Amino acid sequence: MKIYSGGCLCGAIRFAATGPAEKPHTCSCRFCQQHTGAPTAAWVEFPAERLAWAGAKPATWRSSDYSSRAFCPACGSSIGAIDDEPIVALLIGGFDDPSDPALQPQYHSFEDCRPVWLQVETASGEE
Ligand SMILES: [Zn+2]
Ligand SMILES: [Zn+2]
Repeated sequence: MKIYSGGCLCGAIRFAATGPAEKPHTCSCRFCQQHTGAPTAAWVEFPAERLAWAGAKPATWRSSDYSSRAFCPACGSSIGAIDDEPIVALLIGGFDDPSDPALQPQYHSFEDCRPVWLQVETASGEE
């Protein structure tokens, strides 16, 4: 099985997720925009049991009834979202190889919240 590794800007948090990478997508909802500071966020999901943290564990902030946003308490990097259901969504920008084809977004959530100047090419060829 393929291992997808990555971490935060300062290196305090490292992770290794065992494939397959599930549901790669972009999301332009306000939570994602404010969590990342970016106009859209690119995500990929893994079951929690296929994700191993190395070094420090991310700090979390409760962002909704079912999910917490994870970040590095040392450097502030956004890491992902940890759901109450055993799913962890990781931000693709934190991976060691964000251009891995398996991480290409398949769909765009809350597309109508994105700035009009932002175009995202998904694997389906749809915006
Ligand atoms: Zn860090
Ligand atoms: Zn979102």
